[in-house]
Amino acid sequence: MTSQEIRNLFLKFFESKGHTIVPSAPMVIKNDPTLMFTNAGMNQFKEFFLGHAKPKHKRVADTQKCLRVSGKHNDLEEVGRDTYHHTMFEMLGNWSFGDYFKREAISWAWELLTEIYKIPKENLYVTVFEGSEEDGVPFDQEAFDIWKERIAEDHILLGNKKDNFWEMGDQGPCGPCTEIHVDIRSDEEKAKVAGRDLVNNDHPQVIEIWNNVFMEFNRKADGSLEKLPSRNVDTGMGFERLCMVLQNKQSNYDTDVFTPLIHKVEEITKSHYNSNGRVTPEQEQVNIAIRVISDHIRAVAFAIADGQLPSNNGAGYVIRRILRRAIRYGFTFLNQKEPFIYKLVETLAAQMGATFPELEKQQFLIMSVIKEEEASFLRTLEQGLLMLDVMIQNSPDKQLSGGKAFELYDTYGFPKDLTALILSEKGLTMDEEGFEVQLQKQKERSRAAAQVKTDDWVVLRDDDEEEFIGYDTLEAVVRLVKYRRV
Ligand code: ATP
Ligand code: MG
Ligand code: MG
Ligand code: MG
Repeated sequence: MTSQEIRNLFLKFFESKGHTIVPSAPMVIKNDPTLMFTNAGMNQFKEFFLGHAKPKHKRVADTQKCLRVSGKHNDLEEVGRDTYHHTMFEMLGNWSFGDYFKREAISWAWELLTEIYKIPKENLYVTVFEGSEEDGVPFDQEAFDIWKERIAEDHILLGNKKDNFWEMGDQGPCGPCTEIHVDIRSDEEKAKVAGRDLVNNDHPQVIEIWNNVFMEFNRKADGSLEKLPSRNVDTGMGFERLCMVLQNKQSNYDTDVFTPLIHKVEEITKSHYNSNGRVTPEQEQVNIAIRVISDHIRAVAFAIADGQLPSNNGAGYVIRRILRRAIRYGFTFLNQKEPFIYKLVETLAAQMGATFPELEKQQFLIMSVIKEEEASFLRTLEQGLLMLDVMIQNSPDKQLSGGKAFELYDTYGFPKDLTALILSEKGLTMDEEGFEVQLQKQKERSRAAAQVKTDDWVVLRDDDEEEFIGYDTLEAVVRLVKYRRV
């Protein structure tokens, strides 16, 4: 099944169950001071859940463009290192606004996965909320019983508040969730460890695909819970993960969602992606770089298509940061010293344009913005290299001090791994421990300075924003260096 067919089947299925199919909301949020980017399918329905607005339809379904790079959901550092977290991804979802509840949601999820998509039942595990004494919420017997009619009892696990209870924030609607996980390991691997022991354990082949949230409570200002008069269902399924399962792949990047992009990166950079079995550490670095670039181009292209250009503050800064992470990986591990990421836009637009026409419409703008950003950051990286050269000349022993490396990173925005790589090429090492000490100190300073709130709708500041301020400073320094030269 192609990814296009998988997406269509999801929407057709829920349409057949009385749902109205709605378009994805923009990934960039312009009118909500508490959230920069859509990070879940339900964001666009927030006002319905809070009771501030009335939905036109009681049942809707869609595929939603999501971005998880800040606040409560920040997966950025995982992206490229693992094979199933992306910055931008599609979340397939179905909703009930005061209409159906647990029984329908669970039985449809099961029907879709096992009868339409034909995932073998024995590969599925589900989790159910274990209950919370503190909140006076009992174990979710109702969900457990509905599952028990469908799946072997030893494939039902109990989950805690962290994984199986959803809250919008300090106050407001909340409730238990039930999640569906798939075990796609080989029979040989399955014989070694039971799948249930690997659920929620960061195993790349035992992964969560679908979360079903049942909003049945309201948390009041005093922290206590009351039953909601009208109950809602909110579900989210990771589209790229579903494609991995249905296309019998071991990684999201081996599905047809990513392979055209990966092939294009290989072609442009004359590198080779090889994720089969054991690979050398050097090959793994190339693999990570290729995954990072194929992932980040999507986030950046969709953001620009939604009107968010890279810039020096707020949402624009987050986008700039994602693009620079991709440039940095290309520069360091694929030896790309000239802009090249912009060339992927055409491939992406050709592949996703049918579902998201904004990509094709804005293709020229997206390409030129990315190309310009690449050129300017590559200049910045070159200047950083010059500064590092001076530091190396002034380091009497074969080690660059942690303080100096940190200064490069913190004040001039020069990435640590790049510093270490360049040092090693010149036969020097970096005082890693000293660097970490400085980093820790800086984190403590920023933690003390900013109260970080990480609920779904309170995304004020986070460490990452602090962390990246260096790049701006570096640009200032670069300008200064140029000025001095004149
Ligand atoms: P995980 O535990 O894997 O990080 P999650 O519990 O944070 O996932 P939810 O908030 O429950 O994810 O989102 C619903 C679904 O969206 C998940 O079940 C998963 O399939 C998918 N998903 C979540 N985060 C990502 C991501 N960064 N990239 C791709 N898919 C994701
Ligand atoms: Mg997560
Ligand atoms: Mg999870
Ligand atoms: Mg989840």
